[in-house]
Parts: sequence; structure tokens; C-alpha cells
Amino acid sequence: MSETPSKAPSSAPVGVDTTTASIARVYDAALNGKDNFEVDRLVLQQVAQAAPEVNDLAWSNRKFLQRACQFLADQGGIKQFLDCGSGLPTAENTHQIVQRLDTESRVVYVDNDPVVLAHGRALLEENGFTHFAAADIFKPEEVLAHETVRGQLDFDQPVGLLHVGTLHHYLGEDGPEMMRAFIDALAPGSFVAIAHFFDPETPEHSELARRMEELFLHSPMGSGRFRTRSEIRALVPGMEIMPPGPDAPADVELCDRWWPTGPRLRPLNQA
Ligand code: SAM
Repeated sequence: MSETPSKAPSSAPVGVDTTTASIARVYDAALNGKDNFEVDRLVLQQVAQAAPEVNDLAWSNRKFLQRACQFLADQGGIKQFLDCGSGLPTAENTHQIVQRLDTESRVVYVDNDPVVLAHGRALLEENGFTHFAAADIFKPEEVLAHETVRGQLDFDQPVGLLHVGTLHHYLGEDGPEMMRAFIDALAPGSFVAIAHFFDPETPEHSELARRMEELFLHSPMGSGRFRTRSEIRALVPGMEIMPPGPDAPADVELCDRWWPTGPRLRPLNQA
């Protein structure tokens, strides 16, 4: 007797819907990861038809996250991180970067994708200082009240809040208020790092941005909003924006141009 072959790849965790694309898996495909399915790669192909540089853009986002973590852990002196929208594990995840500088830095990842929950969390929860919370990252009260978040992070001390590659999936008009609820919970000395789809408001790029928004909206991913410079600034209410490079004025900047060779580091022998 032979078994009916399953259509799902053997790596599909039990209970994961392989017929509908997900944000985490499409992003994983863009980073040439292995935790994605045909349906995710199809969405990526559609995006690539409109924006052929999509893989480079995904890497730009990821490398920004890595440089931002390095900066916060080093110059920022941050020892606790709330990484909203962890995504699937890939090379150089947040905890690996920040714990290189201090092995006891605490990281709580938050995500709600079934594949991330099914096997990504096991890979991300590598040690006693790294934890995972399943919650909706656009519901600050839910994230901040989560027992893992409360149990692992001390909100009387500075926290690095990461919302990298996530907020363009928030379609509400109250993004600034939603982010304010996170920011209000942070102690002085905290940092917020965000990366977001950008509409530079030139006729050519705005037209592309609108087309991409339509594409995302009608794809199984369901969301992908391009915001202007001022709309992105508004997502970090009350925060001082730092310069994106040694001689640059403080403002939001393209990921690739934000400290492109890495933020200035302290000399290694400095205490
Ligand atoms: N932050 C990582 C990075 O920049 O490399 C991953 C970004 S990935 C594009 C976005 C992640 O946010 C995905 O893993 C997705 O599952 C997660 N996400 C999107 N909406 C979410 C929600 N409402 N609640 C929890 N996680 C969400």
C-alpha cells in the first residue's frame, strides 16, 4: 500500500497553511531563505515584475536591522530589546548581534506567523536571555502586557524597540497613536528603530508606490503601505531622530544610506 503523496513540502510544520502566502515567508524567500512555499515565491515573482530590485531591498532592510542593533547595543548602551516582527530566523538575528557585545543582553522577539511560531521560535530562543512572545505587534497593549515581555524586560530601564520592516503592514491611519502607546512605555534613554516602505513623492516613484500598494493589497499578503517622509517621521512621536551618518543632518534616510559602513564604534579596548 502506498501513501498519497502530500503536496506540502516536507518541511511544512503541522498546521501551517501552505496555500496562502504570508509576510514572513515572502520576506524569507526574498532573502533566499528556505522556509517558504510555492505560493510565497509566486507573490515574490509578482513583486519582482514591478520592482526587480526586491531582493536587494529586502537585504537592505535586513542589513539596516543588523547595523541598528549593533549601534543600540554599543553606542546606545542598550541591554534589552523588544523585536516586534522577528521574521523567520536568518543569519545574524538580533540576539546574536547584541549578545556578542554583552552575553546577558535580553531579547524578546514578537511575531504571530504560524511558521515563525512553529519552528522559528525554537531557533530564536537559543539561550536563557532570548525569548519569544506570540502577539499582535500592532496591539501595543497586548505586546506590553504579555507575560514574557513583562517577565523578561524591565521597563524602568532603557529598551531598544525594533519595528523593522513591519509598520508598512499596518494600514490604519492611527499609526502614530499606535506607536505612541509603545513609546510611552519606554524609560528615558530608550531607542526606537523602524524601517518602512518609502514614498519619496516624486511623480514616478509615487506612481510605482501606488501600484505596489494595490499589488500587496490584492495579494494573499494583504498589506504593504508606502508612507512619505513626514508620515514615517510621525511614527516615532516624541522621539529625537538621530543623524544617519557622521556629517548628515538628523532625519529619516534610506536603509542603505543609514550609517552605510556601520555606526561609529568605540575603540575595542575602551571600557
Ligand atoms: N523585522 C524583521 C526584519 O526586518 O528582518 C522581519 C520583517 S518581516 C518583513 C515582518 C514580520 O512581521 C513577519 O515575520 C510577520 O509575520 C510579522 N508581522 C506582520 N504583522 C504582524 C502582526 N500583526 N503581529 C505580529 N507579527 C506580525
